Amino acid sequence: MANTLVGVDHSGSYRIYLTDTTELVQTAQDIHHATPLATAGLGRVLTGTGIMSLLLKKEDDRMTVNFRGDGPAGQILAVGRGDGCVKGYIANPDVDLPLKSNGKLDVGGSLGDGELTVIKDLGLKEPWSGTIAFVSGEIAEDLTAYYYVSEQQNTSFALGVRIGTDSRVECAGGMFIQMLPDAREGAIEALEALLGSMPPITESLRQTRGQAGLSEEGYLESLRDRIFADVPAEYFPRTLEFREIRWQCDCSREKMKSALATIGIKDLRQLAEEDKGAELGCQFCGSKYRFSEAELTDMIETIKGGKQ
Ligand SMILES: [Zn+2]
Repeated sequence: MANTLVGVDHSGSYRIYLTDTTELVQTAQDIHHATPLATAGLGRVLTGTGIMSLLLKKEDDRMTVNFRGDGPAGQILAVGRGDGCVKGYIANPDVDLPLKSNGKLDVGGSLGDGELTVIKDLGLKEPWSGTIAFVSGEIAEDLTAYYYVSEQQNTSFALGVRIGTDSRVECAGGMFIQMLPDAREGAIEALEALLGSMPPITESLRQTRGQAGLSEEGYLESLRDRIFADVPAEYFPRTLEFREIRWQCDCSREKMKSALATIGIKDLRQLAEEDKGAELGCQFCGSKYRFSEAELTDMIETIKGGKQ
């Protein structure tokens, strides 16, 4: 399955990732029972993180994108891997605010003021991380600023989630454009004109999704053709490959057990003796993992054994 077009323009001035994440964002809304506003924020972060993860070199490289603010949404966090798998959560999935004066969901208001931190785990000794203050908390602008400030790269994100009248995801997706080192002046001008006049990405998605009889690849190219219709031929993006961004949580009983062991012997003993066991839920997908009193006692013995 492909839902992402990767391309470069004919002059080699910029690269582009164009994605339709409607199914992915619907999955996230279902798992987290998220309000339309929470779904819009989480969906934008998941889409942005998915695109950024595809830029990682190795399939098991990981990237964490963490928006932490003082608004009622609290925090939106997503983790992506180089193979295109993403997962994420929002601290307050019940968040609800009046629409903005332009009729849009107030994602920036839901996050308030705060910081965006990006952590890249490339399998090296130390993960790399960069932090910036929110520009607007509307996600796309913040990720654009992050690339400019932390990675010194001229990048532009467009991210959108459109919620239907039934409160479910009508469409969601995003576009990422990054200038390459030898970008031509004409390409920069063409992109500035495009980005300055482009309708919301969800509008292009909605119109293209309405076209019948397209393959997945044909759909993505049709979406690109619609968005870049007025860009001169030499700066028009050709397709390099198709990729997929998909929801997948990689939690497991083993990982939960390791996490539980870090709380220490005293707390484990209390759980074993007073609660006769422990139940841990995955923040990302809601899966529950139950550990019996005997398992907790075993864990305590193992930790003790390791210390001798
Ligand atoms: Zn999980």
